[in-house]
This record gives sequence, C-alpha cells and structure tokens, in this order.
Amino acid sequence: MARYKDEQCRICRREGQKLFLKGERCYTDKCSISRRNYGPGQHGQKRAKLSEYGTQLREKQKTKSYYGVGEKQFRKYFEMASNKKGVTGENLLQILESRLDNVVYRLGFGSSRAQARQLVNHAQFDVNGKKVDIPSYLVKPGDVITVREIKKDNATIKANVEVNNTRVIPAWLEKNNETLSGKVIRLAVREDIDIPIEEHLIVELYSK
Ligand code: SF4
Repeated sequence: MARYKDEQCRICRREGQKLFLKGERCYTDKCSISRRNYGPGQHGQKRAKLSEYGTQLREKQKTKSYYGVGEKQFRKYFEMASNKKGVTGENLLQILESRLDNVVYRLGFGSSRAQARQLVNHAQFDVNGKKVDIPSYLVKPGDVITVREIKKDNATIKANVEVNNTRVIPAWLEKNNETLSGKVIRLAVREDIDIPIEEHLIVELYSK
C-alpha cells in the first residue's frame, strides 16, 4: 500500500499549501510542501490557471480536506451557516471549528484532526461528564471536554500532550494539562482561525 502512503501530502501539494493533515511531520522539514511545493504527478510542476469556478471549487475542496469533512456534511454546515445571523462564510468556519474532533486537535490531545477523529470514535472523551464518540458533535460555550477516566493512561494521548505542550491553544479554548481537559470559553470567531481559507469563495460557489 506504499502508493497511498503520502496521500495526505498529495492533497497539500495539489492545493499548494500546508494543510497539516499528518500531525508532527507537518511541523518538520520532512513536510512534502517544504521539499516539493508543486502539484503531485507527472505534470504537477505546470500549474494550470484556474477559472473563477475552478478557484471557488478548489477553496471548498481545500476546506473539506482541512477539516476532514465529506461533501454531504459540508453542504449541511453551509445551510446551517446561511440560516445563522452574521456573515455566512465566518459562520461556516465557526461551525467547522466547533466539531469535537477539531476541538480535541486544537487542545493538543490529537496530533492531527484525523487522529483526533479516531480518538473520539474510540470513545476516549467525555463532554460535560458524558461519553461522546461522535466526531461531528458540535461543542457549545461552557462545554468541558475531558479524557475519560478509564482512558487517562492512553499512550497516544499522553504522548500528544507531551509533544504539544508548547502548542498555542486558541483564545476560545482553555486547557488543563493536569486534569487532561479543556473548556470551550466561547465559540471561535474569524480572528481566532489561523487558516489560509478564503471562505467568501465557498459562499460564492454555493450561491450560484
Ligand atoms: Fe504532508 Fe503535513 Fe506537509 Fe501537508 S503539511 S504536505 S500533510 S507533512
């Protein structure tokens, strides 16, 4: 299966940006974008100029890859964002940031969103004292996410906490390394979200 080994890096190379899909490797000089910042495949070095539609589509695909969300769910989030007060694109990012797998990643309990999703799937976390194993669960202000008592010896989580000790926790979250928990202080706003996404392109795409 070696052919698929760098599949996530190929996504970054196709987008021409680091999307941080692989955990620690993304922060080292082993990152494929640092070494080969051109598209994958035989013709990868010739980047075609994209049409307006193509640019909007790429932005959507990039955002889906970044958060690890499929088309159906992404469209659902867009509908939710459109129905909320405020700027649709910013609402969309806020919803994506509120996913439990993203919060677990942001708190440093997972090395990547993909790994965080797996940890949530394997029922490693409580939200407000109750087991939640749904990665798409949307957190709310005041929610407390804790590594479940019986999982506190989980080697992966322990290693992540140690390695990510210096990772900056976003201002909308609070982390407690002693209790292996985190609290949602408020929902994320655009300024909190440090990702190179032009969300207005996604809104334009879906508004056609
Ligand atoms: Fe691969 Fe991570 Fe670099 Fe993307 S950011 S190319 S996933 S190592």
